[in-house]
Amino acid sequence: MEENFKLLRRFQYSSEAQIFSGKLESEGIKIYLRDNNIVDSNPIWSNAVGGVKLFVKSEDFERANLILSDISQFSFDENNKLIKCPNCGAEEIEMVTSIKDLKTFFAFIFSLLFILIPFYSKHRYKCNKCKFEFN
Ligand SMILES: [Zn+2]
Repeated sequence: MEENFKLLRRFQYSSEAQIFSGKLESEGIKIYLRDNNIVDSNPIWSNAVGGVKLFVKSEDFERANLILSDISQFSFDENNKLIKCPNCGAEEIEMVTSIKDLKTFFAFIFSLLFILIPFYSKHRYKCNKCKFEFN
C-alpha cells in the first residue's frame, strides 16, 4: 500500500465487501480491499484469513465509518425495533442482498451510483444465529 490506509471493516464474503465499497466509492471515498481474491477462490478460507478487509485512507476513515454506520449491522423494523427471526426468535437479523450473479451485481452498482435509489433496493433478511432467510 503506497498511501496510509486504515482498516474499516471485515466481511465474510467479498460480495458483501464490494457492496459496501461501492457505497463508499459513490461517496467519493477511495477504498482498498485485501484478501478478497483468497476468499473468492475458496470461501471456506474466509475465517482463516480473517475475512475480506476493507481499507480506506486515514483521512477518510471517520467519514467512511459514518456512512457505513448509517447502514446498521442488524435490521430494524418501522417502529425501530429489532426484527426477530421467524424461525428461532433471535434478534440478530442482517439484511442480505438478493444479488446472485455478476450481471445483477453490476446493474445494482450502476443504479446505486447513478440513480441513487435506496441502498438496498432488493433485499432479504437473514438470521445471524440460524441462518434462516426471509423477506
Ligand atoms: Zn433464526
